[in-house]
Amino acid sequence: LKQSSDCSEIPIIFITGLGNSENILKGFEKGAIDYIVKPFSVNELKARIKTHVDLFNLQKTCKQERVDLLKKYEAIVENIPQKIFIKDLDSIYISCNENYCNDLHISPDQIEGKNDFDFYSDDLALKYQEDDKYVIDNKIEINVIEKYEQDGNRTWVHTIKKPVFDKNGNMYGIIGLFNDVTKQKEMEQTIDKLESLSIKDPLTSIYNRRYFQEIVTIEFKRANRTKLPLSLLIIDIDFFKSINDIYGHQHGDECLKSVARTIDLMLKRPADMCFRFGGEEFVALLPETAKVGAHKVAEDIRMAIENLNIENKGSKISDYLTISIGVAEKNTDSVETVEELLKIADDNLYAAKNQGRNRVV
Ligand code: GH3
Ligand code: MG
Ligand code: MG
Repeated sequence: LKQSSDCSEIPIIFITGLGNSENILKGFEKGAIDYIVKPFSVNELKARIKTHVDLFNLQKTCKQERVDLLKKYEAIVENIPQKIFIKDLDSIYISCNENYCNDLHISPDQIEGKNDFDFYSDDLALKYQEDDKYVIDNKIEINVIEKYEQDGNRTWVHTIKKPVFDKNGNMYGIIGLFNDVTKQKEMEQTIDKLESLSIKDPLTSIYNRRYFQEIVTIEFKRANRTKLPLSLLIIDIDFFKSINDIYGHQHGDECLKSVARTIDLMLKRPADMCFRFGGEEFVALLPETAKVGAHKVAEDIRMAIENLNIENKGSKISDYLTISIGVAEKNTDSVETVEELLKIADDNLYAAKNQGRNRVV
């Protein structure tokens, strides 16, 4: 019965007069599920059969549940857009999903037992195996965005490789997850490009530091040619850190906007320009303006900011927000380079801070 495939699944219970343990053992070895020695009681037999039927049904349900569960996992793995593989500790493939093997032009059942040298150039295969080794040796995750080229197509891929462990915590391989992020990467590159081309500071809408570098170089050369003066102011808000600390960063940002707007308003000549130089620092460039004039403009700006009456309880010198300004002028200070011009203005700003702030030096 057990040898024929048609009936090998039929459960067998021996009912026999051969009751010694040798025969009982033999019966079980042959594949019996139970062994009853005569004389037997019908009720006992019925009870035993019922137990076996219940056990059989339970086994069947368990098997079905396992199949259902596997199907569910398979559906998840096959339907996510990522490419996935599992390799053993020697970088030999155990399994992968359809998305991964499509790339390699094979079917998922062909991947088992293969390694990266079967699919990639030697250089790439070596790199992938080195990455695997790094993950395995250090038991840590690799999480990078890298370039990937397959069949002449260049893409950006978010790669995650991490060790996998069995129920007992023993590492048995590594899992690789790959997500195509080419679109996001291209978008980022476009934004970077646009930002690098931009000349305005996004918070205050006045010109940014990058544009300052461009303009100051041009104006410096022009001043060299014309021998006309060129003044530069570095403006720094006093005790600005306490504005953020006391009133919050968002309020701090609003103050920066007000200060930038006010500086811009106070520059009257068409050639005058102001820039956001850094956090709470601004620069004003005043072509064809001598030192006395630059001091006057600086003093006007200082007063205008003070008159905004922006509360600053953290200031040690006033109830309101104030600024300090360092002035430099190309001809009077006889400077040769843009860097020297900036250095003198910065030294004077430092002096203004030291002399008590809320002043022009
Ligand atoms: P001092 O009078 O010596 O200039 O003191 P200060 O507090 O103004 O100078 P400090 O350099 O210690 O702090 C500058 C602060 O400016 C630090 C930072 O909290 C703030 N800051 C810089 N950039 C921004 C920004 O974009 N927004 C906001 N809200 N705060 C900024
Ligand atoms: Mg500062
Ligand atoms: Mg400051």
